[in-house]
Amino acid sequence: MEAGAGAAVRVPLPLAPAAAGGPHPTAGGRAPRRPTVPVRVGPVVIGGAAPVSVQTMTKTPTEDVEGTVEQIARAADAGADLIRVTCDTREAGERLPEIVRRSRLPIVADIHYDAPLALVAIDAGVHCLRLNPGNIRQTEKVAEIARRCGAAGIPIRIGVNAGSLPDRGRLARGRGDGGPEEVGERMVAAALGHIRILEALDFRDIKVSLKASDVLTNLAANRQFAALRNRYPLHLGLTEAGPTRSGAIKSAVGIGLLLAEGIGDTIRVSLVDEPEEEVRVARQILATLETRPSGPNLIACPTCGRLEIDMRPMVARVEAALAGVRRSITVSVMGCVVNGPGEGMHADIGIAGGRQKGILYRRGQVLRTLPEAELVDALVAELQRIAQEDRELLAAGRPLPEGIPQGAADGVPDR
Ligand code: SF4
Repeated sequence: MEAGAGAAVRVPLPLAPAAAGGPHPTAGGRAPRRPTVPVRVGPVVIGGAAPVSVQTMTKTPTEDVEGTVEQIARAADAGADLIRVTCDTREAGERLPEIVRRSRLPIVADIHYDAPLALVAIDAGVHCLRLNPGNIRQTEKVAEIARRCGAAGIPIRIGVNAGSLPDRGRLARGRGDGGPEEVGERMVAAALGHIRILEALDFRDIKVSLKASDVLTNLAANRQFAALRNRYPLHLGLTEAGPTRSGAIKSAVGIGLLLAEGIGDTIRVSLVDEPEEEVRVARQILATLETRPSGPNLIACPTCGRLEIDMRPMVARVEAALAGVRRSITVSVMGCVVNGPGEGMHADIGIAGGRQKGILYRRGQVLRTLPEAELVDALVAELQRIAQEDRELLAAGRPLPEGIPQGAADGVPDR
């Protein structure tokens, strides 16, 4: 993929109902998407009519080409659409051309204060810069970056974090004296300041992020920005969301509520975990909201006194096997045959435990009765077969099917 493989297409669009104070999302599912001007990051379109994309960030030093390329490959396997890498040293900049060449995903280079490094990244062929022009003191250097980005068709993400606002002392408990709304206003004002610098240079190939670690502040900032009349796409995420479980919950609430309101064009979940885990959580958020067909969905009963099998290790094994599956598919694991198959009826495939034995079923139809010891093995084997098929389809550039094609499971034709 070439840098700047096409400049962003600017399509005039009407103001969104969401931006104009339209219907509340709970009145009937998700609110209409806030219209935005599409921005192109290599082959990935963000905003406009494009599906909400998933991104993550490498955690290796960028100087480590092998480690970085390998981490990008794992993020791609997990379903990332694009990836950010830090470009914080001269050496990192020198490694970028090889990383861009070998990356399976379009690259966003993260630049902080160093204008020469931004130019190095542009020359390296990255597909987007994350850069706040107000952080670069010399206006002529900002003008040079904007001119070069414009010529190469490289958009700029302006990223405002609550923790980086001037007067951080007012951010007690992450919210500030004035609460989420007041901090949100300061974040939006900071973003608009950066936007004005680029607009004054006639550069509008922009997307914006407003991130806080506090969910309510995050919601306030993004809602306020979405209510403005500009149409720049929004990148959603919570900063410093935390370890996997609590971070995933915070992100699901903070990102999910905004998506349900029609706000947001690309998302990044930030966890103290591997990039591929961030991608899996992000895709789960999208799948939950049915924002796009976004991979597997595992349903499992909570268990109760009727439980007849050792559920937890089974669920853990099925979850691990699903990590390799990319298509949209619903898999269920139920604790007993009394309610299992019925409650898992809508699943594409699943198992339900019995006394020392259980059943493998597909969309409510029993395929086989198996001893308990073989039950999860049968389901895992099926998921591994599907994962392999998904890998081959993606490698061939072919679309993934949804669910399990007719007759594919256990040799039993579909009903
Ligand atoms: S499927 Fe069976 S074990 Fe699981 S919660 Fe329902 S009744 Fe209980």
